[in-house]
Amino acid sequence: MARLGDDIDDFCVKCKRVMNHAVVSLLNDGPAKVRCRTCHSDHDYRHELAPPPKIDPRKLAAQAEKAAALAAAGGTPEAPAVEGETPVVEKAAKGRKKA
Ligand SMILES: [Zn+2]
Repeated sequence: MARLGDDIDDFCVKCKRVMNHAVVSLLNDGPAKVRCRTCHSDHDYRHELAPPPKIDPRKLAAQAEKAAALAAAGGTPEAPAVEGETPVVEKAAKGRKKA
């Protein structure tokens, strides 16, 4: 059973690793909130689990939107030119074989 002020290992989001923490809040005899002994930041006890990698769907959508807007505005003129050249060369080669 945890008690206030107990030393406990937990993942610190600021230190980005498992660090020593002090229990600052209890819930059902378990640590609810902890404070990092190293950077002194308080956060919910996360059972030593690192947070999932940051894949924000809204951010991804915003990035896709930005890329689409950039492409529509002709932000990447080199890519379409290369894409356009390749099929022309292939068509010419096929045409020669047929003829
Ligand atoms: Zn920390």
